[in-house]
Amino acid sequence: MDLHTIRTVLRPSAVEQVAGWTPGHAWLAGGTWLFSEPQVSTDTLVDLHGLGWPALEADATGLTIAATCRIAEIAHYAGPADWRAVPLFRQCCDSFLASFKIWNAATVGGNLVMSLPAGPMTALAAALDGVCVVWPRVGAPRMVPVVDFVTGDHTNVLQPGELLRSVHLPAAALRARTAMRHMALTKLGRSAALLVGTRNEQDAMVLTITGSTDRPVQLRFPGVPDADGLRQAMATIPEARWFQDVHGSAPYKRHVTQYFAEDIRAELGGLGA
Ligand SMILES: Cc1cc2nc3c(=O)[nH]c(=O)nc-3n(C[C@H](O)[C@H](O)[C@H](O)COP(=O)(O)OP(=O)(O)OC[C@H]3O[C@@H](n4cnc5c(N)ncnc54)[C@H](O)[C@@H]3O)c2cc1C
Repeated sequence: MDLHTIRTVLRPSAVEQVAGWTPGHAWLAGGTWLFSEPQVSTDTLVDLHGLGWPALEADATGLTIAATCRIAEIAHYAGPADWRAVPLFRQCCDSFLASFKIWNAATVGGNLVMSLPAGPMTALAAALDGVCVVWPRVGAPRMVPVVDFVTGDHTNVLQPGELLRSVHLPAAALRARTAMRHMALTKLGRSAALLVGTRNEQDAMVLTITGSTDRPVQLRFPGVPDADGLRQAMATIPEARWFQDVHGSAPYKRHVTQYFAEDIRAELGGLGA
């Protein structure tokens, strides 16, 4: 839609060119959300694409995903053979309530900053121990684990004007086995629950819960727990975390999450599919 309040569109080639940040400024990535509803308090868009950040950079330490990396780019990424977690990229992209048109515009960073409980890039990056690199308006970059970046429905740790530069996924997490489960009330609907389990080379298991909770919840185990151990860990999730919206009631989401968590435990423990 036309944003009738926009007076200025900046296209910097370096972030330093952006001076005088006001509450009316907004970073523009793919624009799939920004242009989907009125932005009455925004008068200036700062387009990130002129910054020219490489979308995906792999090295021995892992994979750096630029905030401006498009969903289509990460969906089609093929990593080294021992990065067993890479198929999870596509699985999470397929969890968007969105067509290929959105995939070709929407960015990984935009999805994290939107901070919706069902944000599939949040699920992916949190599950793989991702660390956000955040650029403040002034001062040194700061690192924030993805699991702590989203703080609630549509809220996160960014301060006004701060820029999410990238997310780094460590190689050890990329070598982990993964199991993912996803539920939406309608065929192409927004996720009511999106869970990812990982089992690393030391056999530690991590269960990341999104969609059904207002922010990512992570349960860590030194090995694959038994069903009772998993149930006990799940019981520690505060009642207030279960997220109710048009995509499912809180009790429904909790139920589906418990079902999927057990399914993932069985799969990663070698008992299931
Ligand atoms: C049809 C449709 C379906 C959708 N389905 C889903 C869905 O299933 N799940 C879901 O989570 N979302 C969904 N969305 C919402 C949105 O499209 C996605 O979250 C998308 O990933 C946002 O990315 P973007 O690059 O388009 O962000 P933009 O629209 O450009 O920006 C979104 C917000 O993030 C800020 N921002 C963007 N990049 C940065 C950065 N690097 N640093 C700081 N701030 C930044 C912007 O200022 C803005 O406030 C959908 C949208 C549409 C139109």
